[in-house]
Amino acid sequence: MLRLSTLPFKTQKSIPSGSDNRGTGLLLQAGFIRMTLAGAYNYTTLGLRVLRNIEEIVREEMNAIGSSEVLLTALGSKDAWEKTDRWNSVDILFKLPVAEWKEYALNPTHEEVVTPLIGEWIQSYKDLENCSVYQIQTKFRNEKRAKSGLMRGREFLMKDMYSFHRTQEELDTYFEVVHGAYDRVFERLGLADSTHYTFASGGDFSKYSYEFQTEIAIGEDEIFVCSACGQAHNKEIIDENNFVCVECAHTICDRRIVSESANIFKLGSRFSDVFGLKYQDTDGQTRNIVMGCYGIGVSRLMWLIAEKFADDKGLVWPVEVSPATHIIIVIGDHLAGARKLAEQIESTGATVLIDDRNTGFGQKASDADLFGIPNRIILSDKTIEKWGYELKKRRENEGVIISIK
Ligand SMILES: [Zn+2]
Repeated sequence: MLRLSTLPFKTQKSIPSGSDNRGTGLLLQAGFIRMTLAGAYNYTTLGLRVLRNIEEIVREEMNAIGSSEVLLTALGSKDAWEKTDRWNSVDILFKLPVAEWKEYALNPTHEEVVTPLIGEWIQSYKDLENCSVYQIQTKFRNEKRAKSGLMRGREFLMKDMYSFHRTQEELDTYFEVVHGAYDRVFERLGLADSTHYTFASGGDFSKYSYEFQTEIAIGEDEIFVCSACGQAHNKEIIDENNFVCVECAHTICDRRIVSESANIFKLGSRFSDVFGLKYQDTDGQTRNIVMGCYGIGVSRLMWLIAEKFADDKGLVWPVEVSPATHIIIVIGDHLAGARKLAEQIESTGATVLIDDRNTGFGQKASDADLFGIPNRIILSDKTIEKWGYELKKRRENEGVIISIK
């Protein structure tokens, strides 16, 4: 249990100026985040809990498909980025001058680190039977104009995963395994119904890349969803006057406004070739390795969920993401009772915030709504007279009295 009186952070009466979207504005108003500079945010205790909860869902699902967690360096060597020909071609790459003659990269992605790292342990076909690693780490993008709060930052938290395979077929198979894991992540985040697996332009390595696009009114992207089979297409691969579904050739579609929440790529042997990764096959021949990479924007998802589910009273978190499952508002001399109740509730696996701050009921009630905690409990003289506490769900207006056992 966490007591709000122990936190140094405070809420504000209204959405502060300077945020150009509601999700970021409410996170600022609730005191969950604060900006250091455009596109770079601090997370306070309750905001960090949300971020960690999303992180944990992602971690559990990546572990469940047999990927191994690692933590790679945020700093990257210029040599490696030049080797892959990306030092000058990736326009958002942060370049860090270290001395007159030396620069480092602040990594926006980790092919340049993970490929030589994993290469160290690959010799035979056996080493590629289950070769997938992921990390959850702060990434950097040198956006010329960062805006939209957490939506597109210069510094953000991402899960990135890299897999290494003997053949294209093995990559294709694993790719679908990851697709399934991503579906489970979106399910647990409450975003499954509004998130579309979308074909997008492939770039250098394959015909398509694959994006997970979540419907949201202020999204930065557009997709076209086939009316017959439901396949989503990014606008960049569509001739808008003449839609033809790439899956079923149907010609009618729906347009949706979306925001990209994740993407997965088949990299082929572009990076493994550069770093000389090879393996010895069963027949003794030396062969190339193919790779896949798979991203999820963890801090972006926090914004997306905040933005998508908020109502006129504030944030509304899905239960697995919320900074707590319950908030107990203490009115009068009932802190001991609240602690006891919190212990009971937490013994069932729930998490409890106790609002024991020295403020009036009005502010406590509106802050409980603003925080977006799914269950609000009031413990006061009035509820004790009725031998219980009042329980109200976040989206409901009236509470019910639950008797205390
Ligand atoms: Zn179709």
